[in-house]
Amino acid sequence: MSFNSLGLSDALLKAISKKGYTTPSPIQQKAIPSILEGKDVLASAQTGTGKTAGFTLPILQILSQGKQLSHRPVRALILTPTRELAAQIFENLKEYSTYLDIRSTVIFGGVNQKPQVAQLRNGIDILVATPGRLIDLQNQGLISLSKVEILVLDEADRMLDMGFLRDIERILKVLPAKRQNLLFSATFSKDIKKLAMGILHHPVHVEATPENTTVDAIIQKIYPCAKQKKTELIIKLISEGNWKQVLVFTRTKQGANKLTEAMISAGIKAAAIHGNKGQGARTRALAGFKDGTLTALVATDIAARGLDIPLLPHVINFELPNIPEDYVHRIGRTGRAGASGEAISLVSPDETVFLRDIEKLVGLKLPKEQIPGFEPDPNASTEPIKPGQGRPQRNSTPKKPKTDNKARSNNSFGPRRPSQNNDRRSNR
Ligand code: AMP
Repeated sequence: MSFNSLGLSDALLKAISKKGYTTPSPIQQKAIPSILEGKDVLASAQTGTGKTAGFTLPILQILSQGKQLSHRPVRALILTPTRELAAQIFENLKEYSTYLDIRSTVIFGGVNQKPQVAQLRNGIDILVATPGRLIDLQNQGLISLSKVEILVLDEADRMLDMGFLRDIERILKVLPAKRQNLLFSATFSKDIKKLAMGILHHPVHVEATPENTTVDAIIQKIYPCAKQKKTELIIKLISEGNWKQVLVFTRTKQGANKLTEAMISAGIKAAAIHGNKGQGARTRALAGFKDGTLTALVATDIAARGLDIPLLPHVINFELPNIPEDYVHRIGRTGRAGASGEAISLVSPDETVFLRDIEKLVGLKLPKEQIPGFEPDPNASTEPIKPGQGRPQRNSTPKKPKTDNKARSNNSFGPRRPSQNNDRRSNR
């Protein structure tokens, strides 16, 4: 199938071809025609499936064909959980609208609101926003959403997971009742279904199915390791393997900082990305990681959400996540867009329970490999890290993600994610 058959305008086809896309991804093939028909859509898709173009392209088409009001009120609102995701969607919108008279902008917290307000005053057709800053500006009377025709909730599961439900409900109240609604989510917990039922009218269901796979595989490996030797092992793996790009996950912000410092001391170009970092530092770190200036990006789970890091060859779990679903999110960062990747977890004895929970969730026994010199003390306690040290309590039963039985996981640009918990991860 080609983009020509999806009903998109020449201006959009030209921008798509400039981007170098030749074939629409499965989610694009399914979502674009329905959105163009004006239908509400409930889409099961995660970052890496091409979902952003799946909704931004038809929105651009609808708005560019509709009647343009002179003061340019916001006509499409795209809500996302994180600043990074918001910024990426905005970048995509800019590229796809190169040949259209459509203005978009992005607003998120953590940066001065003045430039954002100035942009809004100029008139904006499409607004990409994180819920907090949007409500802030709305409360200050700096933004009107009374002319919104299309609403997108992107990564809706993550928005709920991050505690944005109340904010979403407040935003919904100020939108016109008659509008087109698009909800994208990787997982469908009870809470997401409830939210979707409240918002969507006779939605078309679309799904990026694992059968339409272009990604090769993710090789998963466990390296048992003494807790105090993990830093040494990670430095050895990166240096001796001559790795060029590795995403490393730690459980806490403090852990991310400490590991980053140790890596830098060992001559590895590294940066940390987590909730305590300012927007400038986060953007710089991500840009450096993408352009190859940085070898290692050390991230906490929340900070890594929604990041579009293409063709990632290595992901390392410096510590296993205490929420098993996060493991699947983390390894989904590798082996994307047709490339194979490796996901390595350094597991110390006190993470035995986390590993067992993960294996239960993915339905696989993950292969273990012992690196000589890094063996854990056979007498070390396997008592898990205490809740006070960052293990939030589970409040829902995990769903089993789709992985095959060879410790690999596939889908169109990345693996599927299991359901989320509504827990808080304040230290990430
Ligand atoms: P997304 O899931 O929207 O985050 O997109 C993941 C990556 O796939 C981004 O880098 C997009 O630029 C890229 N992408 C989106 N659609 C296509 C396509 N049809 N062909 C090739 N790459 C694409």
